[in-house]
Amino acid sequence: MEIISRQGDPELAEVFVARFRGNDRFLVEFVDARDPDVPAHEKWVVIVSTQFGCPVACAMCDAGGEYHGGLSAEEILSQVEHVVSRSSADRLASVLKFKVQFARMGEPALNPAVLDALRLLPGRFNAPGLIPCVATVAPSSAAPWFEELLSIRRNVYGGRPFQLQLSINSTDDAARDRLMPVPKMSLRELGAYAIRFSGHGPRKVSLNFAMARGMAIDPGVVARHFDPASACVKITPLNPTIRSAEQGLKSGLEACIPEDVDEIMREFGRLGFDVILSIGDARENSIGSNCGMAVRKIKGEVR
Ligand code: SF4
Repeated sequence: MEIISRQGDPELAEVFVARFRGNDRFLVEFVDARDPDVPAHEKWVVIVSTQFGCPVACAMCDAGGEYHGGLSAEEILSQVEHVVSRSSADRLASVLKFKVQFARMGEPALNPAVLDALRLLPGRFNAPGLIPCVATVAPSSAAPWFEELLSIRRNVYGGRPFQLQLSINSTDDAARDRLMPVPKMSLRELGAYAIRFSGHGPRKVSLNFAMARGMAIDPGVVARHFDPASACVKITPLNPTIRSAEQGLKSGLEACIPEDVDEIMREFGRLGFDVILSIGDARENSIGSNCGMAVRKIKGEVR
């Protein structure tokens, strides 16, 4: 792995672009991030890529488009190793939460090597605070991958925290297909899986909604398919990306929360769901930390 760029703010997020296999087709991004509201010794976040580009090509994500296959488990872990190597071993051993998010370029469930990386992760890093986090649109072709993930969650991580984030984005099937153009597991299937997954550890499965204007979010539909004991709701803005602009998508969350967002959150609460509203830090957009942007910049598509 060869680091070819680094940008950002060490107080918030630094985005690396790395070249693998000595070839510009194999560029990925990864991120060394911290939560500015939480002391550095409490939380450290590394966000890694799992594919060279992404075959899904979601309407709001710059990682899609070009796709050149999956990273190997060692290539995935080398991103974590690079971030960790920049700090003392003491930091890794003492940080309360060391989150490794499989959430940058690529759909993790479409790369079997992600499962190997998850198996190797706890033995590779002396990080008692390790929390793996997998973010997925849950392609229906990956059903066997999800069964194996469940087995790893149970047999490798036991009762330790393990975060699964399901990108739901809308409760309307047509809107989901427009935003995430790949055959996906249905909400009913995901609800059943969330119960099985959360039964093996302390964390609820997170149902992520990147709110886009005009894309329905109906808490009643969520409640029909998901059990609030096994799933929580996370609402974020739709990040400004080149692709979302091309697709005419606008965030449904502005600086001040519109009343309908407030009402959606109250309704989720009434139905028993924990709801997290995560606006993020506006600086993240200005440093280009949204998925796929840094690689596009290197390739000259952003000036
Ligand atoms: S959001 Fe995830 S699945 Fe969709 S294109 Fe981006 S990386 Fe791929």
